[in-house]
Amino acid sequence: MPDFGFDLLGTDGQARRGRVTTAHGTIETPAFMPVGTAATVKAMFPEDVAKTGAEIVLGNTYHLMLRPTAERIAELGGLHKFMNWSKPILTDSGGYQVMSLTELRKLTEEGVRFRSHIDGSYHMLTPERSTEIQHLLGSTITMAFDECTPYPCTKEEAEKSMELSMRWAVRSRDAFVKREGYGQFGIVQGSVHEDLRLRSIEALNGIDFEGYAVGGLAVGEGQELMFSTLDFTTPAMKTDKPRYLMGVGKPTDLVGAVARGIDMFDCVLPTRSGRNAQAFTRRGPVNMKNARHATDHRPLDEECPCPACTQYSRAYLHHLIKAGEILGMMLLSWHNIQYYQQLMQGMRDAIEAGSFEDFQAAFLEEYNGGDIAPL
Ligand SMILES: [Zn+2]
Repeated sequence: MPDFGFDLLGTDGQARRGRVTTAHGTIETPAFMPVGTAATVKAMFPEDVAKTGAEIVLGNTYHLMLRPTAERIAELGGLHKFMNWSKPILTDSGGYQVMSLTELRKLTEEGVRFRSHIDGSYHMLTPERSTEIQHLLGSTITMAFDECTPYPCTKEEAEKSMELSMRWAVRSRDAFVKREGYGQFGIVQGSVHEDLRLRSIEALNGIDFEGYAVGGLAVGEGQELMFSTLDFTTPAMKTDKPRYLMGVGKPTDLVGAVARGIDMFDCVLPTRSGRNAQAFTRRGPVNMKNARHATDHRPLDEECPCPACTQYSRAYLHHLIKAGEILGMMLLSWHNIQYYQQLMQGMRDAIEAGSFEDFQAAFLEEYNGGDIAPL
């Protein structure tokens, strides 16, 4: 079995073309990871997720530890077998969901005690427990347990939060059972402050993680501030390890972040939007609820190879959405995941060809140009 590794195959400006090697197969980067919160990418069969070109999906520690529990998934042979997905799986640490979904949580040096949003039962997540849960799940890539710094916050709060996360990173690493082909990523924090981000990177570089994530962005600071934070963050990160921007984002976010040296992304946007009638296309987002599609026999996107575009009309998709039919959500989820994978493929090709800047300009012009005119 190959050990966990990252090959930087080429660069174009700051943009990077790479390959992550794992126990469950390789991941061509820049890569987008569809989110499979509760051991399923919502409204998609796993084989269809793979057909879009996705090579890795994300699972959520918080949701799986509560239901059906990590111990049960381990007894049933691990998350890969449980959800019928044999390619790589990255799991988050649970920290973000604890902060965003639970009430009555208590944060201490030890970890976070919280009440389940499902049945009100009490649980404790610590760096050690989060790492153990991800081990029980059999996650290909384990994330260090950190505190997602809220935004906005004072610099003092951001500093305290980052320092706590760095102490938790050491404990997460100590708890990680290194196995061939499996890896663990540390998470850079420090909000939008350059000195804090650089200190966080220095602390994490002292721990030899298999990869490094940028956390605490896409939390309400806006695209401009996210990009300016990446501008001073990624150049300080190790070049020989994958870089993962957590929870991002919109298509324009992905292209701008790849231009700033990010390799991996995850976001609920394509699937969540797909269940809410929003389709992402080369010409920007399209609301399929809109009555302008009611008699439109044309495909959503004539260049997209997904079944929503090759086998159905805009009028039919509009009808399914208006009628609340499950197939409408399934088709738009598939299309959106397909669109994101095509976008990543386009970026990988452009970096290889040394034409990423041209790609970015053409992408933005088409994306901001708007949808095709109504019939
Ligand atoms: Zn499509």
